[in-house]
Formats: sequence, C-alpha cells, structure tokens
Amino acid sequence: MVSEPILNTIKAARRIVVFSGAGLSAESGIPTFRDDLVGLWQQYDPEELASSEAFAKDPELVWGWYEWRRSRLAQAQPNAGHIAIAQWQQHYPLTIVTQNVDNLHERAGSYSVIHMHGDLNKAYCSQCKHPHPLVAAPANLPPEGARIQPPQCELCQNWVRPGVVWFGESLIDADLRAAIYAAENCDLVLAIGTSGVVQPAALIPYWAKEKGAIVIQINPNESAIDVVSDFNVRQSAAKVLPFIVQAMGYN
Ligand code: NAD
Ligand code: ZN
Repeated sequence: MVSEPILNTIKAARRIVVFSGAGLSAESGIPTFRDDLVGLWQQYDPEELASSEAFAKDPELVWGWYEWRRSRLAQAQPNAGHIAIAQWQQHYPLTIVTQNVDNLHERAGSYSVIHMHGDLNKAYCSQCKHPHPLVAAPANLPPEGARIQPPQCELCQNWVRPGVVWFGESLIDADLRAAIYAAENCDLVLAIGTSGVVQPAALIPYWAKEKGAIVIQINPNESAIDVVSDFNVRQSAAKVLPFIVQAMGYN
C-alpha cells in the first residue's frame, strides 16, 4: 500500500509535521469544503457564507449554517486516520497542524493541535472579540437553510460570531507563528487530505521544503500539493495511516 522508500523516509525522520485538511475528516462523514453545501445550502457559495461580509449582511443565515455544521460534527466520530495519528503521537512527538475546524484530532486522542483556521466549537463577539462559551451543539440537526439568531455578547450586546477564520481574514497570529515554526523546524511534512489552495496555510509544505524537509502527500486525487511533494500516496487517509502506523510498530 505504501512503498518501501516512503516507509524508510518516515522511519528516518526526526521531526514530523502532520498537515491535515478536510479530506482527513471526509471519511467521518464531514464533507470537504466544496461538497459541504447540501440541500438548501447549495444555493450559496461557501465563500458567501464563510465571510464577515456575509455575517454582517445576514447573521442568522450564517449562524444557522454554523449551528448545522456543529450539530453534524457532534454526531460524527473520528475515523481510522485520526485514530492512527493519535496512536502515533503517543509514541513520537508529531506536530499536528490542521486546517480543519472540527475537533476530530482531539477526540481521537491527539494533543497540542495547531488549528490554523480556528474551531467550530468556539465563538466570540464580532465587535469587542470577547469570547463566548457555546452550549452543546443541538442534538438534532437544524433543518438545512434554517436561520438561527446568534447569541449576543455579554459585554456589548453585539452579535457573537463563529470562532473560525473566514475568507479574507488574517489568521490568528499565534497560530500562524506556531505553524511556521513547526514547518521550518521539521524534516518531514505529511500533507493529508488538503487541496493546497487556501492561503497562507497551503504554504506549510513550501516553508518546510525551503529548509530542506521532505514532503509526502496522502490524497486519492491530484492537488496543488503535487508540485511540492516528493512522494504521493494516492489513497484515502483512513486506509493509509493505520498501515503506516502499523509498519512503524506504533499501534
Ligand atoms: P479541501 O476541501 O479544499 O480539499 C480536500 C482534499 O481532500 C481534496 O484534495 C481531496 O482530494 C482530498 N480528499 C478527499 N477525500 C480524502 C480522503 N478520504 N483521504 C485523503 N484525502 C482526501 O480542503 P482543505 O484543503 O482543508 O481546505 C478547505 C478549507 O475548508 C479549509 O480552510 C478548512 O478550514 C475548511 N473546511 C474544514 C472542514 C473540517 O474542519 N472538517 C470541512 C470542510 C472545509
Ligand atoms: Zn462584545
């Protein structure tokens, strides 16, 4: 399933960065970005819902979409790929840098995950940035397309917004710096299930490569990562990762 040169490269690595994207969670039933708009959401472009302009224009529509996604996430489970990474991390200090806003790495047992694009289960005030704790996600999925009124900030009464990084927004400085540090100080990047088109996250393999690291990609399809990767494993993450972890003797 994974060639000897790839396994030997992984075995020889001393500092590994796992760089994950939406494809890793696809087999948990969380669709990748372009597939994420089902039912009534299909009439919208993801960039129309995931932006501060969209939230300013129609906060109830955007909050409804995020509550729907949060509820679906609560019903999903980490898959064999997340679990293999967590097992690996029990034996070896992998650095996990994810673009995913889900919590499936953590629910599989991984720790110290750098979330470059924030967290679906966090929220803060759209004006004064005060954090707002969210109650558990709704047990039943709200109907697709349902508008839901966002909570109001306890300090300034403005709308609370999802704790994710939207299109057109800068990343949280500390997360970006942690990701750059990890990339520039590793000798191997495993890019898993990412199309490599959302910037600046997509630069992680490039930053690593500039400092001499090797890049291995796990993705059943071609992606923008192809041009920077030394090896491509064209298979699903949930199949390949348990195989690698077993070959390393870590499960
Ligand atoms: P993307 O949707 O742009 O690309 C997903 C990639 O995963 C594709 O290249 C696809 O070929 C690959 N893929 C699909 N199934 C796979 C599998 N089983 N195993 C391995 N690879 C598989 O995702 P992205 O690059 O992460 O960027 C999209 C943006 O959307 C990110 O900013 C992210 O925050 C957001 N997003 C997050 C989630 C999540 O948190 N789970 C879901 C959707 C979108
Ligand atoms: Zn406020």
